[in-house]
This record gives sequence, C-alpha cells and structure tokens, in this order.
Amino acid sequence: MDIDEQIRFKLDVSLFDELMSDEKVKTLADKRTREMNTIAYRRDLLGNSLRISQKMAPDLFQRVTSAQQKLGLEDKDIELYIYNSPEPNASCAYTGGDNIILTFSSGLLMSMSQDELNFVIGHELGHALFHHYALPTHSILEGKSLTASEAMKVMSWSRRAEISADRAGVYVCQNPSAAISSFLKLSCGVAHPIIEFDLKEYSSQIQDLSELANSLEDTSHCYSSHPFNPIRVMAVDLYGQSDRYKQLTGQGSAEKTLSEIDDAIKQVLDYMEPVTDNDKQQMMNEAVFWGGAWVAYADGVLANEEAENLLSQAGQEVFDRGMEQINASADPVQLAKDNFTGSCKPLLVLGPSERCSFIQRLVVVARADQNIDDSEMDALMAMADIMKVEPSFIQQIMMFLD
Ligand SMILES: [Zn+2]
Repeated sequence: MDIDEQIRFKLDVSLFDELMSDEKVKTLADKRTREMNTIAYRRDLLGNSLRISQKMAPDLFQRVTSAQQKLGLEDKDIELYIYNSPEPNASCAYTGGDNIILTFSSGLLMSMSQDELNFVIGHELGHALFHHYALPTHSILEGKSLTASEAMKVMSWSRRAEISADRAGVYVCQNPSAAISSFLKLSCGVAHPIIEFDLKEYSSQIQDLSELANSLEDTSHCYSSHPFNPIRVMAVDLYGQSDRYKQLTGQGSAEKTLSEIDDAIKQVLDYMEPVTDNDKQQMMNEAVFWGGAWVAYADGVLANEEAENLLSQAGQEVFDRGMEQINASADPVQLAKDNFTGSCKPLLVLGPSERCSFIQRLVVVARADQNIDDSEMDALMAMADIMKVEPSFIQQIMMFLD
C-alpha cells in the first residue's frame, strides 16, 4: 500500500471522489486549477521574499528533504521561501507538476520547535501528496457559482483534507504532542512556557460532544474550511493511538484500529455539518418522541391522550418504531432517557430559539393529559437542561398555556 493510502483520512477520500464525480464541481475545480497562475505567484515571491538555498539554511533544507523522502515525494523539486511576517504561517503551492513551492513566515520559523516545524512541513507537503490542489476550495467558492449546499459540501471536504494533512505532519514529526503545540502557536501565537497545555484536560472538554456542539450557536461554522482547532487536536491525538500509525512508526501494536478512530473523528466532524431541513425534521421527530415518552412514562403510565399526541408530534413511522422498543423494554423511562439524550445531541447545534421551540413541543406533549405532575415536571426540567435551555422557560410556556 502506498504511503498516501496509509495516511489519508478515509472520509477525505470518499468526499473528494464524490465531489469530483459531480460534473458541475469538477468542471469548476478544473477551471480554477488551470487558472492558478504559478508564474505570477513565483514572480511575486521572488520579488518580496527570500528564496532559500541549501547553503543559506542547511537545517531547514535538511528537514524539508527528509520530509519529502518520508512522504515519497523525492521526485519533486521543492522551492523554499521565507517571507517577513510575525504571524506564524506556512503554505504549499502545488498544481500537480514536478514543482512544489513551500513558504514559511519568519514568525513561524522563530516560534516553532524542531518537531513542531517538522510537523508543519509534513502537513504542507501532505496537501501535495494527497493532490488536494485539485479542489481549490477558496477559488471554487469565490465565484459563488455553487449552491449553498454544494458550497457547504466543498467546505466539509476541506476540513477533512486538513485532517489528512495533519496526519502527514504527525507521520513526519513522529510526535503527536508537537503537532498539538504547533496548533496552539498557530492559533494564539504562544505555547510553553506561557501556556501549560494539558491534553487530557483539553480532550475531556472536547470529547464532551454536547458541550462542543453547544458552542456552535449559528451555522457559520459550516462555512469554515478548517476544522476548529479542538477537533484537529482530538483527531491528531486519536490518530497517534491508532494501529496504523504505530506500525508506520515502528512502535508495535495499538488498542484501536485506524478505522475505529476514523469513525470517532467523523462523529466530531459531524457537529460542524449543516443540518438540512429534512434531516433536522427527522431528528426532531425522533427526539420529540423519546422526550415525550420520557415525560409520559414519568408518572408510570402512557395515557391515551399522551399516546395520541406523541403520534401526532413524532409521526407514524417514528412512533411505531419507538413503541416497539418501549414494549420490549423492562424500564421504559430509562430507555426513553437514553434515547432522548442520544437523539438530542445533533440538535444542540441549533440556535437558541429553535431549541426553545423544541422544548415547547415537549411541554405540549406532556400537557396532553391536562396535567403535569412533579415527576413529569422533573423530566421536562432535565430535558431542558440537556438541550441547554433555561429551565425557567418551561414555567413561561406553562403560564402561557394556562
Ligand atoms: Zn492545511
């Protein structure tokens, strides 16, 4: 298996293939790639930055050459440029030929440790290795000729491409922690000793998916081409634990397969995906059913009115499927709680007003038998808490309904 197949994130590959088999996207991508003016870009670099020779910066040169070899790119000619900017930044320009142009800002070279620098070089070369240039996200989106949903798909792919490039970087530097500290430096400019980064603390925070999703109050994240740093941190950390990485770097066996890890990363990335109206409706119905069942069974029995209301709120299909599970369960309340909590997670990305209106639907279900007792009230409060809605909101609706 080639090195690129061993490293590249599988969901980058699948979405890349899907987008490239879409005639409209492919035509646009090809056009934009052809238009990329490497000559003008080189002229600009030659005029405004310093081209580095082996003599001028033997250490940097050596790092790039060694990364090149590790990634099987030794047949490419790499030109290196340094430009003056305090902001830590690096880029890779490659359009499929024999030449790759890498640029580094002075700020990046000044602030990164050796391993961090190796990570950044590996990341940038990873984009060339995986032929990410074939879908130039920014120039494709600039033209505004794609529909909103096509554009979001391109952005979604771009985030996956970053995960792949990060893996190439980790493979080159063989130090996942250095990858993570380089993210810190790239995002806030500083790391040790100003920031003592505790990965365990950080990952426990980001692995709390509901919390993460809760911070995404609007859909602007769907238009972001780079995954949030916390997601990249988690993805790098997980990748470093995979069997494939351990094999590649000669570290023996691992507990997790790369495929299991890819699935876990997909789940987190999904929180950045836009929710289509149809999907949203389906998820809401599912969550309304389980929330409704939780509150309805909280007082021990499912009253006829409650069942009818549940059916009308959730729809026949969701209702039938849910009731089948409930009838087979010894503890319907626990089942409903668990399923509610699970089915709510994707809904946490919704804005506050949509989350409130969702809670309102649940209050309506609970009130179907004209009475909300203490246990039902407790259930509603717990659900509001899960949905990050102020519990007082429930009182407000009740006052309104009375
Ligand atoms: Zn990148």
